[in-house]
Amino acid sequence: MQFKDLQLNKPILKALLEEGYEFPTPVQNQTIPLVLAKKDVITTAQTGTGKTAAFALPILQMLFDKQDSGKKGKKIKALIVSPTRELAIQIQESFKVYGKYINLRTTVVYGGTSIEPQKDVLTKGVDILVATPGRLLDLHKQDFINLDYIETLVLDEADLMLDMGFIDDVKKIERLCPKNKQILLFSATIPAKVVELANTILKDPETVNATPSSSAAQNVNQLLFYVGKQNKMELCLHLLRNTINGNILIFRRTKMGISKLEKMLKSNGYKIDSIHGDKTQNDRENALENFKEGKINILIATDVAARGIDIDNLDAVINFDIPSISETYIHRIGRTGRAGNSGEAYSFCSADEKPYIKGIQQLINTVIPIEENHPFVLDPKAKREIHKTPGKSKNKPGRKSEASKKNKKRWY
Ligand code: AMP
Repeated sequence: MQFKDLQLNKPILKALLEEGYEFPTPVQNQTIPLVLAKKDVITTAQTGTGKTAAFALPILQMLFDKQDSGKKGKKIKALIVSPTRELAIQIQESFKVYGKYINLRTTVVYGGTSIEPQKDVLTKGVDILVATPGRLLDLHKQDFINLDYIETLVLDEADLMLDMGFIDDVKKIERLCPKNKQILLFSATIPAKVVELANTILKDPETVNATPSSSAAQNVNQLLFYVGKQNKMELCLHLLRNTINGNILIFRRTKMGISKLEKMLKSNGYKIDSIHGDKTQNDRENALENFKEGKINILIATDVAARGIDIDNLDAVINFDIPSISETYIHRIGRTGRAGNSGEAYSFCSADEKPYIKGIQQLINTVIPIEENHPFVLDPKAKREIHKTPGKSKNKPGRKSEASKKNKKRWY
């Protein structure tokens, strides 16, 4: 999916291109079409997921045709309510960036600062207003804000807004806007009080859930290790001996890979078990039980075997192999760092897995920090390991011959 597939117009696309945005994030992909279809929407997403653009872009698009209207007095057509001034400022800055080539005026008002300059700006007329609740009501009471022409109301960080005690203010603001407006509610979590608010003020809302990437970004300390394929076992052992403690889930792509790792770790005295497609249901359940009861502290799994099973509250996840599907990375590391605890995610990337990391970083909108303080650092410029004479080798590509295995001295 590209931004142009979301039916955004040229001035917006141009601004996005200049910002270096290549692809919409998942929350943008899912939310933007619903907003453009004028639906009420509840989106579960945290900061870092690209949620601001998920409402800012379609709002700019919907108001595009009205950009030069109301020369004699602009009317506020979109209102974004935010619990904190920092967030409000950021939102306004985003509107400015994305709306660079559109003639719509955006301003921000918040408390804790002089009200007079804000009155001056409002008097000149704005199309899009970003505001914190208290200052908004104050300025409305003093007749500097008219909410009669609001077409879209956004409640950003709704859970935080209610935690901060703004529930009555939010309800009041909603009542001051026209009845037939569109409401977009964004919240990092959806506790009962947010559901209650949504039930009272939203009409047949559509829901979008973009939590996995955000929880991954928030509580999980991610580290990337560039390491040669042949050194991954050594690196794993090195980290288990020196760095990683607690309950650990290690992901490998194949059953064969799991068996090798399992054998090596067992021979080094680790209490581990594994789950993969060749194991019986009974074996898998036993492994899981042992892990939960603390009889073992390392579990190795394929993605398919780990899917849908309840292993969370992990201290660390090791991506021994980098997943080729970016979303899988989010699911994997989302198993740690739950319920406000912090977690660790270690990813071992060999030369031929680099493109996967690129895709993952794009999806999570984060550059994963690289750890270079380990004995097996791969030259950053290392290329894929390719057989020079494909088809002529006696062995399967990428596999070592028995003779070479025997010759290799391992230190573990
Ligand atoms: P937000 O979740 O709205 O706070 O956005 C988090 C960060 O992601 C901000 O720095 C945005 O500029 C950036 N961002 C938002 N959407 C995209 C995108 N589609 N591609 C790249 N970066 C983005």
